[in-house]
Parts: sequence; structure tokens; C-alpha cells
Amino acid sequence: MSLYERFEQAFMPNYGVPPIALARGEGTQVWDVDGRRYLDFIAGIATSSLGHAHPAVVDAVSRQVATIAHTSNLFLHEPEVLLAERLLGLLDGPARVFFANSGTEANEAAYKLALKYGRREGRSYFVAAENGFHGRTIGALSLTGKPSIRDQFGPFPVDVRFVPYGDADALKEAVTGDCIAVFLEPTQGEAGVVPPPDGYFEAAREICDSTGALLVADEIQSAIGRTGHWFAHQAEGVTPDILTLAKGLGGGLPIGACVGFGDAGKLFEKGDHGSTFGGNPVSCAAALAVLDHVDLDHVRSAAARLRDGLEAVRHPLLQKVRGRGLWLAAVLTEPVAARAQQAAADAGFLVNAVQPDALRIAPPLVVTEDDIDAFLAAFPAVLQEAAK
Ligand SMILES: *Cc1c(COP(=O)(O)O)cnc(C)c1O
Repeated sequence: MSLYERFEQAFMPNYGVPPIALARGEGTQVWDVDGRRYLDFIAGIATSSLGHAHPAVVDAVSRQVATIAHTSNLFLHEPEVLLAERLLGLLDGPARVFFANSGTEANEAAYKLALKYGRREGRSYFVAAENGFHGRTIGALSLTGKPSIRDQFGPFPVDVRFVPYGDADALKEAVTGDCIAVFLEPTQGEAGVVPPPDGYFEAAREICDSTGALLVADEIQSAIGRTGHWFAHQAEGVTPDILTLAKGLGGGLPIGACVGFGDAGKLFEKGDHGSTFGGNPVSCAAALAVLDHVDLDHVRSAAARLRDGLEAVRHPLLQKVRGRGLWLAAVLTEPVAARAQQAAADAGFLVNAVQPDALRIAPPLVVTEDDIDAFLAAFPAVLQEAAK
């Protein structure tokens, strides 16, 4: 029996059977179980920031696991303190951190933090964006604006009202003095790497300031250099009240973080929240290595090369390129992204059909000029194959 058949028999069908079984990786390359080599232009969904088996991550994780791998929150340890301090040093203004293990858990922490605020202030509902994605656990799912994955698991404990993403007037109308918090991605990832119009985040900040609602920036996919900034909100000139992180932070090791700025960092009282594995020493060591080795100048120059190259492609299937930094979508004129993903894999490149008409391109942040040129050289033929 093949690995694929064994997967199908052993696992719940929630993922279907993924088309490629990966065996190992090195830098921006990965190999499948049959020894086929691919250039990785998706990085485990914008997660493997330093690519695969980066020596600094390998070294940090190996040392840490051989020193102490787990303490629980009954005991503190130095890597978590170092990591919290490093993150706060990259952020603006006084803030406090909570560590979780994943994106959805980071958002659960944000949700509970906001609820504490809402209960104290007598506020009753959340606002989030249509097509937004915040995770699969019940709290984060309730904020997720995708009826196909959300509705069958409702009703949810708190009223969440959805507004079209990028429409500041709709946001203004939806957010009253009764609103607890507004959850927004600075660019919507799962919706197909969709940046908002200029000024949208600033408008969201103003709307929250004038109504007293908290602004929660879900930067689980957009942070840690992905857009060419440590955090996407920094490019908007806006500081949220609560920030959530995960994907790229651990460079492939599981870690999530919820940051509360100012008073929002002090809402939890002793006993209000916790996680046994959250902020475990091994994941913190990996994250510290990531923060040491992400090079924003490199991200920006690589991003410009990739974007310019993609925008220079003339093909009837390619409608446009959108996104930020090393986080782009090739928007197609036909809903054949799945075929384009397959054609790319056949040509030796991993990308992701994030929407029926959008191909997500998010290489490791250490992607080289040669990697980019190889991808760009292959891309027209990939489109041609998908168009057949
Ligand atoms: C991936 C993602 C999540 C969920 O993260 P998990 O680690 O899969 O739970 C939440 N929000 C955004 C914006 C994401 O991209």
C-alpha cells in the first residue's frame, strides 16, 4: 500500500489526501518520498521563514531539546523571557505577551482578552471581516467570515457581525459603543492574499478609538518579516490593541503569541488563561533563531524581484499580481488555480491554490535570486499547462 493509501485509511478525511508526501528539506528545497526535488514557494503556508533545516534553527532546537524541552507554566524558563523581550523590542509601545502553540490558540487568547474587556465595559458583540480567516477552534471560527467552514458549527456564544473587508464606511457603520472588538487581518491571507485599500487600517484604528472598541490585528500569516516589515501593521502606521502571531514565528516549530498593548496587556488576571505547552523552550529557541536571521532588506529586495518578474509575465490566464512582500497571489482569469498548482509541482515548484482563481506564492524569507529566477522562468509554462 502506498503512503497515500495508508494516510487515507488512518486519518479523518478533513484534509483529503495531500498530493505530495514530503520527506526532507534543505534551505529552499524539499524532496518527496520518491526523491523528487522541488523548490519551495509556499513554505508550509508562510511558516518556514528560514526555509528547511536552517543551521541556526537546527542548532537552537537541538541544544534546547537536549537541555530542557518542557517545563509547563508551573515553572518559567529563560528562552520564553528572551523571546518575549525580543518581540516587545520589535513592537511599538509598552505591551505584554502570552504564548500559545498555534494561530487559532493565539486568537482564542485574544478573544478571551477582548471578552474580559467587553464584560467589564458592558459591551456585547464583535466585528470581523467577510472572507477573513482566524482559525478553526470555536472562538476563532466564530470570527472567521467564511460561511462554508463556519456555519455548520454555530451557533456561537458571542454575536459576531461581518463587514466587507476594505470598506471603511461599512466598518464605521458596524462599530458602535456596544462593540467589544474588531478583528482584522492587515492583508487577508486565506481569502487569497488580499491587501486592503490604502488607509483602511488607519480608518479602523480611528473607528475603534472613537467608539472604544479594541482593534485586534491578526498577523498570524503577515508578521515576522513576511511583508518586508517585522509586522504588517507597522507599515500602516497603526498600533493595534491586541496582536496575534504564529506561523512564521517558529520557523516551522509550533508557537503562537498574543500581544496586548498598554492596558490590553493587563486584562488577564492570575488564573484567567493558560497552556501547558504554550511557549515551550524548544519552540522559543526556534523563534529566537528566526528573529536573529530574518533579514528585512533581503526580504524587500527578493520581493521586488519576484513581484516585478511576475508582473512582467504576459499570459491570458494571468489577470494580476497582488499581495505584500514575499506573500503574493497570482490572480487568474479562470478558476484553474488547482491545475496551476499541479502544473507547478510537475515543473518542480511548490505553490498553493489558495482560492479557485488565486495561486499563493510565499517562499521562505531566505529565497535566493537564483530561486526566484528559476521560478519566473518556469511560470509561463505553468500557466500554459493550467490553461489547457
Ligand atoms: C493560519 C491562520 C490562522 C490559524 O492558525 P493555525 O496555526 O492554523 O491555528 C489564523 N489566522 C490567520 C490570519 C491565519 O493565516
